[in-house]
Amino acid sequence: MTQQIPDRTVYDQVVPPEQMDDVLRSLFDAALDVQQRAHAPYSNYHVGCSVLTTSGQIYVGANIENSAYPQGLCAEATALAVMASEGEREAKVVLTVCDSEGLATSCGGCRQKIREFATRDTIIHACSKKGLWATYTMDGLLPDSFGPEHLI
Ligand SMILES: [Zn+2]
Repeated sequence: MTQQIPDRTVYDQVVPPEQMDDVLRSLFDAALDVQQRAHAPYSNYHVGCSVLTTSGQIYVGANIENSAYPQGLCAEATALAVMASEGEREAKVVLTVCDSEGLATSCGGCRQKIREFATRDTIIHACSKKGLWATYTMDGLLPDSFGPEHLI
């Protein structure tokens, strides 16, 4: 009997932008930039998300709250909606930047939304404004998940 341990790396200290490789830095900068345009007047919690697709494009989104609270969108949902609307279906890397000082990961709903467009190799990075806190595989972030292949 084999049981694999989900892939996740949680850093003891934040990895600052200047220590990131070029791809990670580009995604971090893009998410940090779009985070500034979040519409978060109710929570005042700003999140930015960047998605690198397998074609090499980067799409971004911020959280968009609504006075009717459940109608709000997480940053991941916004970025993935933009990506899919452009005809892209494969997220290679997803990165979030949020207002938390330490590690804060995507909510459960967003984990499933990422899963819809994940490949076997999709990586998810969780960052604060100061840098990278954790890196996950899709299975590490959402183990034994339900996905498109169950329906097709
Ligand atoms: Zn979410």
